Amino acid sequence: MSCTYVTLSTGQMIPSVGLGTWKSVPAQVKQAVLAALDNGYRHIDCAAAYSNEENVGEALRERVGPGKSLKREELFLTSKLWNTEHHPDDVEAACRRSLTHLGVSYLDLYLMHWPMAFETCDFRRGSVMMPSNADGSIRYADTHYRDTWKAMETLVDQGLVKAIGLSNFNARQTDLILSIARHKPVVNQVECHPFLAQQQLLTHCRDRGVAVAAYSPLGSPDRPWASPGEPVLMGDPRIKEIARQYGKTAAQVIIRWHVQRGIICIPKSITPSRIQQNLQVLDFQLTDEDMKLIESFNRNERLIIPTVEASATIFLTSNTLKKKYLQ
Ligand code: NAP
Repeated sequence: MSCTYVTLSTGQMIPSVGLGTWKSVPAQVKQAVLAALDNGYRHIDCAAAYSNEENVGEALRERVGPGKSLKREELFLTSKLWNTEHHPDDVEAACRRSLTHLGVSYLDLYLMHWPMAFETCDFRRGSVMMPSNADGSIRYADTHYRDTWKAMETLVDQGLVKAIGLSNFNARQTDLILSIARHKPVVNQVECHPFLAQQQLLTHCRDRGVAVAAYSPLGSPDRPWASPGEPVLMGDPRIKEIARQYGKTAAQVIIRWHVQRGIICIPKSITPSRIQQNLQVLDFQLTDEDMKLIESFNRNERLIIPTVEASATIFLTSNTLKKKYLQ
């Protein structure tokens, strides 16, 4: 068996390990998705904001559908609604655009990417991802995520998506959605890795029937704003030592840690050998002691910083951003 699953509140089974696609440039992502599908992945994590869904779709067209190696129902496909399309009038069109790009008639899961809305540009609605003012600050819109959620619920009613969920929502925001939802959020996808173990949010979501998906599960070493000298999770000597003891790689130990916590995780890679390796995590088990040891590496360190200023600013080092916004 190359797959283990988490059961969602809808009864859907989501493979615990999926392929991430953020930063996989169009020229690379098709081959990455083909390598993933050919190596047994049945879960692909996509988003309109990654600007590569058409290329993911090219791979799906080669492998999925009548006469191809996979049936559509064997695959779990996630996409996400971007911040510029939170207005209730824009939600369905955004979802349909992702469906067209991916070449499928439904999504298994559609997430609200962030709990904040950006303005849409009137000259070409939705086409500017990071609308900004002349001083570089983001142009936020006043659509509340509660109203966006209500529009997302109609996508379930229409059969365009099997389930809807959240991303980057804290406990309070999750509870607000739960209190008004006709269709409950099945997943909250948040940053999670041994340096940001998210134990409280994990318990909070679990107690309410919301599964947690870990993004940047390996510490996102290719995030655009990583700066030299910042700690690299997979290079941490303590993780490397545990990996040595099990005869596994650091990535496999971290992915196994997520899986044993009952979390969904979506490591990104464009490298076929790593794509294959990242799914090979079911032939060993971390001891309770090692699980706790890895948990103790937590330092509540966030690597994916919410975008609070213009796109130019997000390429500042994360330390600079942390000083400005998180202290
Ligand atoms: P990640 O998966 O933690 O790390 C990706 C990096 O790790 C890439 O540089 C990749 O290199 C490398 N890597 C992968 N497997 C490896 C292995 N076995 N050995 C050594 N290096 C390995 O980072 P991420 O892309 O930030 O997060 C994963 C996915 O989560 C994203 O792609 C996206 O789908 C999702 N995500 C969602 C949000 C959200 O707001 N909802 C935010 C961030 C990410 P190569 O590609 O060069 O092989």
